[in-house]
Amino acid sequence: MTSYIEISGLVFEVRHGPRRKSFGLTVDRAGELVAHAPAATPEAELRAWVASKLLWVHQKLAQKRETVRNVYPPEFVSGESIFYLGRSYRLRIIDKSRESLRFDGEWFELKRNATPKAAQHFQRWFTDEGGVWLRVRSTELERRSGQAAKKVIVRDLGYRWGSCGKNRTIYFNWRLLQLPIQLIDYVILHEQVHLLHHDHSHRFWQSMDSVLPDWRIRKQELERDWARFSRFAVPL
Ligand SMILES: [Zn+2]
Repeated sequence: MTSYIEISGLVFEVRHGPRRKSFGLTVDRAGELVAHAPAATPEAELRAWVASKLLWVHQKLAQKRETVRNVYPPEFVSGESIFYLGRSYRLRIIDKSRESLRFDGEWFELKRNATPKAAQHFQRWFTDEGGVWLRVRSTELERRSGQAAKKVIVRDLGYRWGSCGKNRTIYFNWRLLQLPIQLIDYVILHEQVHLLHHDHSHRFWQSMDSVLPDWRIRKQELERDWARFSRFAVPL
């Protein structure tokens, strides 16, 4: 059962960790708030601690709103740029083509009569073509993490970049393919380490230390820079 506390109009999900020794707060990409606490913490104590952190929470939420505001969704006109694996490519609208959307390594070419559904065509392209790249990369990185997924599925995950599901299945958000490879690698390795540790416990981050020693820098870059590369963002 999930429990929540409300403080000054903000709702926090409460997660008690059996091994947790200190309090913690996270604000995820969707702006959801989670308060982490040791197992047997009295609610009053947790509320007092969270209340002392409200300024920080408001700053984080403001930052997130600002980041999302800076994402300009594509208009699907010739000349605008679309990011793929962190590089900017130009879009060209063409009249005749067998495919609705194609990529030749330099240009994205979108057929004029496909422009009303352009966003769907891009989602499909990133899911299918980008998915091929992502699966190859995942397999390569399995050697580093020592954790092999049974299945890698690319689909829409809303605000999440990746998730680790049942039966060693790993899911990735198709929007991830817009980001630079060093950030994609962080997400892939993060999910592969979840095959070993399902939570964000101390042991999870310890494994990350050995698998990807500079994970902290990449995690920070991901949180700070994702909107620079993402033309297809989920608005808050
Ligand atoms: Zn995780």
